[in-house]
Order: sequence, then C-alpha cells, then structure tokens
Amino acid sequence: VERTGTRTEFDLIVAGAGPAGSACAITAARAGLRVLLLDKDRFPRHKVCGEFVSAESLHLLRSLLGDHHRHDFATRPEVPAARIFLDGKSISLPVTPPARSIPRFDLDAALLASARGYGVCVEEGAAVRQVSRNGTFTVRTAETASAGRTVVNATGRWSQLTQYDVAAKEKWIGLKAHFRETTPANSVDLYFFSGGYCGVTPVDAQTVNACAMVRSGIARSLEEVFAAHPELWQRSRNWEPVFPAVTTSPLYFRKPETCDQGMLLAGDSAGFIDPFAGDGISLALHGGALAAESLLPFLAGKCSLEESQGRYHTAYVERFAPAFRNAARLRALLAVPKWIRSRLFGVLGTRPLASLIVRGTRAQVR
Ligand SMILES: Cc1cc2nc3c(=O)[nH]c(=O)nc-3n(C[C@H](O)[C@H](O)[C@H](O)COP(=O)(O)OP(=O)(O)OC[C@H]3O[C@@H](n4cnc5c(N)ncnc54)[C@H](O)[C@@H]3O)c2cc1C
Repeated sequence: VERTGTRTEFDLIVAGAGPAGSACAITAARAGLRVLLLDKDRFPRHKVCGEFVSAESLHLLRSLLGDHHRHDFATRPEVPAARIFLDGKSISLPVTPPARSIPRFDLDAALLASARGYGVCVEEGAAVRQVSRNGTFTVRTAETASAGRTVVNATGRWSQLTQYDVAAKEKWIGLKAHFRETTPANSVDLYFFSGGYCGVTPVDAQTVNACAMVRSGIARSLEEVFAAHPELWQRSRNWEPVFPAVTTSPLYFRKPETCDQGMLLAGDSAGFIDPFAGDGISLALHGGALAAESLLPFLAGKCSLEESQGRYHTAYVERFAPAFRNAARLRALLAVPKWIRSRLFGVLGTRPLASLIVRGTRAQVR
C-alpha cells in the first residue's frame, strides 16, 4: 500500500468484502498468497437480503470460517419449509436439506474476521475508485494505491467498478428490516403481488426479517409493500421494527459475465440471480472461492492470466449458468396473466415438480 511511499505487491487484490470477496480472499490466503481485501463499508452492517442461506453453501461457509471465528451459526434457525402466498392461494414446500437464516450483520462480519485470521490484509471504509493495468494492476482508493498481480472484482451488483448499460431496462429496488413477531413460523414465506414480492424469514424466537424486491413505482417503503398483499398486511399489523429499513441501489438482471478489464468478476458483480431463488449467497461463496482457485496456476507461474480467466469462465458456466437460466424462467412465470398463473400455480405446487424447480435454481456445487 502506497501510503508510506513503500509499495508492497500483493498476489491478489479483492475489491468488495461481501460473501464473494471474503470467500475469494480466504481461499487465496489459505493457499499461501499475499492478499489485500478492500471494502467501502465498515462492518458489521445491515444489508438488504432475505438472509436465507441455502444448504448448498453451509458446508463451504463452515470451512471458510475455520477456527478463527467461532460464530455458532448452528444456533441460527433452520428453515425446513417454504410457503408461497399468491393470488389468495398458498402452498407449502419442503426445503431439503434445510437452509439456515443468518443475518448479514453477523455473516459478513464473521467472514471478514476469518479473512483477517488467515492473514488477509483488510481495509474497511476503503472504496476502490479505479483499477488500471500496466503489466501488474494498480488499485486506487481515495487514500491508497496498491499493486497486485491479479484483481477480483466482488463489489456486488452496482458499484464504481460494476456498471453496465442498463438503459430502458425495468428497474427494481430492494428493502429490508427486522421486526418483532411472537413465535415466527420456521419457514421462508414468500408473498407475491403484482410488481414484486416480500420474503419473511425467522431471525430468532421473537424476530423476523422482511425483505422485499419491488418494481420501482410500486412501493417505496416496507409499509407500502405490506399493503400490497392482504395476508402479509394482516400478519404485519402488530410488528415492531428492530432497526430502520435499509434499501438497495436499483437491481437489474443481465447475462452473467466472468471477466472485465483483466479482473475476474465474482458473486453479484458476475451475475445477479433472482433473490427468491435464495441462492445468491451460495453463488457468491462458491464463485469467490472458484475465482481464487482459478488464479492459483497463474500465480504459481504455470499458465498465463488469460488461461486462468478461461478456466474460471468454463467452470462458472458449467456450475452456475443453469441456476441463472432457471431462476429467470421462474421470474418470467410471475409476469403471465393472473388466470394462467393461477392454473400453473396448481400444477407447479405439486411436490415432486416443485422440488425439481428448486433444485434447478441451485448452483451445481461439489
Ligand atoms: C431483495 C434481495 C433479497 C435477497 N435475498 C437473498 C436470500 O434470502 N438468500 C440469498 O442467498 N441471497 C439473497 N439475495 C442475494 C444476495 O444478497 C447476494 O447475491 C449476495 O449478497 C452477493 O454477495 P456479493 O459478495 O457478490 O455482493 P455483496 O454482498 O453486495 O457485497 C459487495 C461488497 O462490495 C462492497 N463495495 C461496493 N463497491 C465497492 C467499491 N467501489 N470498493 C470497495 N468495496 C465496494 C460493498 O460495500 C459490499 O460489502 C438477495 C438480494 C436482494 C436484492
């Protein structure tokens, strides 16, 4: 870091310390690399998310947390069922194996603490403003310039480093807060309405997380979201907020990309999966780890950076592309006229078919 005039060259610089960035940094540090991890935020912090952590990611999560941070996520509520409320009907589906509900406030901070424990150099409150490449990469924040042999962009859907041509595409926003509720159900409850949905997940024995994704123009606050669905309105009437709602920058859907200006893209910066698939954290953890693994041969002098990028792309498409495709198909179903949707809901609600659909939106992980 250039602050003192001396320049350390890192093997890997990771921009963004969400699940993708931390997973990437930890994986690289465990392989013996010198890693710098930069995030614009300071942790812990609340983040818009349904906080449904799918079973596919729990094994990797435990491994990434290692011994450095003994946060006992096993005490967090298990989520063995999903209930879907749509057009006055509801169905209940098993989530097998069960997922867990883990607040991002704790999850992201635990991963960051683990990264530090594995020797990653972490800087919080350090927004990456620019990345340039002249042989090696130079990564600039307002105060520092750091040199790295490789860079992974894990800055999420929308950042100074991750901006796409989104003109004329439909715009969605995300909102979230925790609320007091007596004895919440141990299911993830998805309330769909025209122009969006709201997921309600248990946080503990007296608290739920309500997280919504809505077309901008449909609702601007969680109260407006609750009013859009009769059953949700009824359920939320006695809720007391635990903290003020947090919101996200606009959400856009686009085709996943794995590389930009020589940087590997991981997590949401590579591709944003429909949140109701409940697989974004899993894709971020697995994608971040995969990005680090793909760079190892280059950093060991065994292949070119372009070959490492190619390996990452191939593995990414093989493991994650089907999940993106199937989740987008499900989103399209929600836009069909109500009478067709109602019939489809009856058919899709049968358990074997529903399980197949849920499996289809999952990353193929090893
Ligand atoms: C409404 C909604 C509900 C969701 N519900 C779920 C769910 O229930 N389950 C699930 O699995 N997924 C869910 N997701 C998806 C999930 O939140 C994301 O897929 C996941 O957070 C992706 O992780 P990430 O590390 O790629 O990005 P992020 O978690 O967005 O992390 C990116 C990090 O980069 C930092 N950053 C940004 N710009 C810069 C910069 N210039 N320099 C340095 N740092 C920067 C940010 O501060 C942030 O910490 C939901 C998403 C939304 C919008």
